[in-house]
Amino acid sequence: MPVTNSIHHTLSRCAVCNSEDIHDWFKTDFGSIGRCGGCGQILRADRPTCNSMVTLHQSSNLHNTPYAFQSELVTRELVFYISFLNLCEKAGVRGKILDVGCWLGEFLKLAASRGFDITGIEPVREIRELAERALGNKPIDPRPIEDAEFANESFDAITMWDVIEHLVDPRGVLVQIHRWLKTGGYLGIATINHNSLMYLIYHILRKTFPPLARLFGPMLYNPFHTYYFTKQSLARLVENVGFEIVEHRGYECPITRLNVGLALKFGMRALYVFQGVLGMQGEQYMFARKP
Ligand SMILES: [Zn+2]
Repeated sequence: MPVTNSIHHTLSRCAVCNSEDIHDWFKTDFGSIGRCGGCGQILRADRPTCNSMVTLHQSSNLHNTPYAFQSELVTRELVFYISFLNLCEKAGVRGKILDVGCWLGEFLKLAASRGFDITGIEPVREIRELAERALGNKPIDPRPIEDAEFANESFDAITMWDVIEHLVDPRGVLVQIHRWLKTGGYLGIATINHNSLMYLIYHILRKTFPPLARLFGPMLYNPFHTYYFTKQSLARLVENVGFEIVEHRGYECPITRLNVGLALKFGMRALYVFQGVLGMQGEQYMFARKP
């Protein structure tokens, strides 16, 4: 399959400011987390490649991480799925929608039920097969987003829910997506918010009480993630590629989605209250428009 030239296959420069000055910040069991000398973006410092990331995601390890969740609860809890479709419909943007990394197909199922013509991409085979079954045997594109090709201006809306933090070249992928979107079309992104209270607490513990930090570190930093965006850095990247931001908010990963014990769920609920008050929620979603 031909590969688009704009994609870098190794995380060698910062997607936000294009700097190559990426230095180590701290070490984890799976590699170094780094900081960009140009803009402060937090990202993997051990130069993962696109191939190594795709292989990692296709390995069965994925199913033993906090990613395992109760899927049937997701659609009704992730309210931005509904908000995004409302936004499209209100603006008269209907028709073809592409969901990049569609996982179990829940968003596509919702979009199809509202009359959108759906296309999904999901490179993880076991998950893709579940999505195909959930969507009435509709085939899902197995290619990683970096290898996918669609005609220019062929979609009315494109979504990447919890995907951008897994890419080695988020800028290259956003450039591709900008090309595939029609003028006036909408982009939906959801990802981590690195400027949240839980990351701040983690780094205080890392310096003062490492055993406790090690306990919940894997919930915050894991080998599947390459980029840890703040609201500011995500906005800068998306606007630089040529999108206009329409809505950008913090939210929390639904507690039911976390594969952790009851005590930790209780603690998380309390943390969410504080994060909400401070406007430092653990996750963020953004809707943007191609002007
Ligand atoms: Zn940077």
